[in-house]
Amino acid sequence: MNIDSIKNGVVLDHIKAGRGMQIYDYLNLSALDCPVAIIKNVPSKKMGKKDIIKIDADIDINFDTLGYIDPDITVNLIRDSKVEKIRLALPEEIRGILQCKNPRCITSTEQELPQIFKLADKERRIYRCLYCESAAKE
Ligand code: ZN
Repeated sequence: MNIDSIKNGVVLDHIKAGRGMQIYDYLNLSALDCPVAIIKNVPSKKMGKKDIIKIDADIDINFDTLGYIDPDITVNLIRDSKVEKIRLALPEEIRGILQCKNPRCITSTEQELPQIFKLADKERRIYRCLYCESAAKE
């Protein structure tokens, strides 16, 4: 694939150097059968070095997942060669990414309950379980 000529696809830019693989895993990009490129250690004026992920298909990205991992990533959605830039933010609520580690939490006995975490402290990026208020640990 010529990575500079994506007509329909997604480019994740300004990924902290070294985190490209982690984001690849989080977004489950290995399940795609379209071309996906991870470009590591790209020189960046702003960041020194950065990673970039290019996906040559118009896939749905979960912006909440991505914003939780790193709100500084820039998402470029490319449709018919036109680029739309999306700024991420820390999501107020995340579902299905974190699991509550508290053994006494209702989610450990009621397995069908969705795992929901709320942003409790924006500065320190702390999320707490909706049910028992345990802080999430990575
Ligand atoms: Zn809990």
